[in-house]
Amino acid sequence: MGIFSAAKPESLMDLLHHNLKDLYDAELKVLETLTEMIAAASNDDLKAGLEQHRTETEGQVKRLEECFKEMDMEPERQARAGIDGIIKEGNKMLAEAKDDPALTDVCIIEASQKVEHYEIASYGTAKAMAIELGETAVAELLDATLKEEFKTDEKLTDIATKDVNPAAK
Ligand code: FE
Ligand code: FE
Repeated sequence: MGIFSAAKPESLMDLLHHNLKDLYDAELKVLETLTEMIAAASNDDLKAGLEQHRTETEGQVKRLEECFKEMDMEPERQARAGIDGIIKEGNKMLAEAKDDPALTDVCIIEASQKVEHYEIASYGTAKAMAIELGETAVAELLDATLKEEFKTDEKLTDIATKDVNPAAK
């Protein structure tokens, strides 16, 4: 299997479609992962932050569905190795650290930030494509989510440096 499991892309529009399907699959998987991480987290700020982001993520799924609608497409998922690998790696780290709550919190932040960076890269790329294609409404929807991903990443850095990393030393 190549980079794309669907038909070979032949235009920038095809690539935008691929990215929307990839993001739709990623967000739905992230929703499940966030639920598992909330259950495993000990630090109160971390738990609350992840809970807030799970609520945001539900909204992000809806935004992607809006994007599909804007482009006269049915919502469709397309699995990609990138996010699957990040989630798999995160699950492995969590399993290995599960007997130590402080280390578990560190691993949750590491795994979450890797997810956020994947999302930031993907939404940024898709937004630029949408702008180029004159898909203004789609670009605005993608930008709203991109801002949430940036904020989440910053908040996680904050919790890690102030609290969670020092507690795990
Ligand atoms: Fe997201
Ligand atoms: Fe996110």
